Amino acid sequence: MPATPSPSAEAPGGPPLDPSRSTAGGGVPRDVPPQDAPARTALSRRIRRLIPRTFQGRLTLGFVGVVTLTLVLVTGLAINRLDDYFSAQEQQNLKTRTAAVANIVKVFIDREAGIRPVIGLDNEVDPGVAALLANDEILQPLADQIAQADLRVRLGSTSQGGDGTRAFVPSPSADYAAHLLAAPLPGQTREAIGRTDLFPIQDPLTPWALEVTLSNPYTYRSTTIADLTVVVGLVALVALVVAIAVASLLARRFTTGLRRLTEASRGIAEGDLTARVPAEMASAGASEIVALSRQFNTMAAQLEESVEIIRRDRDRSREFLADVSHELRTPIAALRTFNELLREGAGMDPDARAEFLESSSQQLERLDWLAQNLLELSKLDSGLVLLDLRPDDLRVAVESAVEQAEAAARKRGVELTLGLPARPVRIRHDPQRIGQVVSNLVGNALKFTSRGGSVVVQLEPYRDGALIRVGDTGVGIDASELPRIFDRFYRGSLANEARSSGSGLGLAIVRSIVDMHHGRISVESRLGRGSAFTVYLPHDPRAGETVQPADETATAGTESASQPSTS
Ligand code: ADP
Repeated sequence: MPATPSPSAEAPGGPPLDPSRSTAGGGVPRDVPPQDAPARTALSRRIRRLIPRTFQGRLTLGFVGVVTLTLVLVTGLAINRLDDYFSAQEQQNLKTRTAAVANIVKVFIDREAGIRPVIGLDNEVDPGVAALLANDEILQPLADQIAQADLRVRLGSTSQGGDGTRAFVPSPSADYAAHLLAAPLPGQTREAIGRTDLFPIQDPLTPWALEVTLSNPYTYRSTTIADLTVVVGLVALVALVVAIAVASLLARRFTTGLRRLTEASRGIAEGDLTARVPAEMASAGASEIVALSRQFNTMAAQLEESVEIIRRDRDRSREFLADVSHELRTPIAALRTFNELLREGAGMDPDARAEFLESSSQQLERLDWLAQNLLELSKLDSGLVLLDLRPDDLRVAVESAVEQAEAAARKRGVELTLGLPARPVRIRHDPQRIGQVVSNLVGNALKFTSRGGSVVVQLEPYRDGALIRVGDTGVGIDASELPRIFDRFYRGSLANEARSSGSGLGLAIVRSIVDMHHGRISVESRLGRGSAFTVYLPHDPRAGETVQPADETATAGTESASQPSTS
């Protein structure tokens, strides 16, 4: 098949697809579009403009189109069939009338002819009969009242044909006619149809025949058809109006769901992330639209949630940055002051110089501690840290972390005890990171427990995994502060005396590590009585399981807070 040039290939400004079409050198393009192409395009554009643009409009138009077509076909066919039926009826009617006319004429002829032959052997009609039929008073009433049509009567002889049938031989002198003169009855019209019937008369001497022809009779056919057409047309019109009403109602119903979807998506596009398809719409109506609405709502909910998470992350990052700047500014300001004081002459005094240098060293230590913790936390958060998961005995990591804290405990005069199970607790974990968790928790417990108090670390198997508990008899945590202690840079109101050594990042780091292990951390505390942190670690973090420890619920008078594995 030869390729037809596509109009879309000739987008304005686009390069010609076919090099042979180039008009360079003044040549005439080969594929000149036909002359009537613009006219046709204009026509199709005009037709397209007539088609409604909305889905509802198109549905209505389609439905009404189908109904109209059906009505036109049914009406046309019905009227056509009725016309045929009435035509057949009229023929039957004419036949009856010819027979009636023939009977009456025969009675007149018989009465006139008596025993004389009506048609002689020479095929001439009896003069008496001829005179009778020529009399208008005989045929005219017959034409007006019986035939109700133009009437023609012929007499003649019959001759025997070879095949046994008798042929009519009309007598040249016996041809009589009468035109219909009577006025039509209401509803009657003349119709251009006709009928001729032959009535052979068995005369023993000379058999003859009577031919009756009726033409242009009065009938009710065309009036009846016209009346019927009007009635059917009216019925069709009513049906069409009903169809239009029903079609637009149905189309409106079909498209309501789509309209709600459009409204909801417009709302989302304009920034209203709470926009949804109303619940009653998302559960009633066409199943496809219901499915689409539900899908849309799910998608919108996910979008809203994601944006909320991103927004929260952004806020948290802002707060974090502000906190970091604040935390850095304090030691830097202190260092600058010491530096200035030393330059301004305080450096000449050995005692003052020693004190300032000692304070500077503390501030530098604090800066270093802060930098290390920040680095650690950002690595954990960014996912850059990959856990070195090993199926080792958890007792080893816990024990070594506690051992490292023993010196500090002695220094602070706090009793530090460790309770380990007799059997190895083999779960898949990163020993170094879990050691860090225990160190941070024990460090806090020692920090917030006054001299003479005690800190107890316990490890025990729990279900498939394990529980690590760090309890102390320290200052405790206020109930209102419990939900915030895992936030970055958060320091409790009772942390005053330990303030210089804290960064407010320790528990945030603990939570990140526990999260990475798909574990869970919770805390129970009572002001002035102490706190207990419980870490649940699953058997294998790669399975992604998190289990709520059974004995984690708060006891009476005890405040508790728990952190899920994912924050
Ligand atoms: P920091 O490094 O300053 O201790 P953390 O993130 O470790 O920061 O702890 C945050 C806050 O939680 C502390 O300032 C303190 O108020 C509270 N907290 C943590 N552990 C304990 C504890 N064992 N006893 C009392 N309060 C605690």
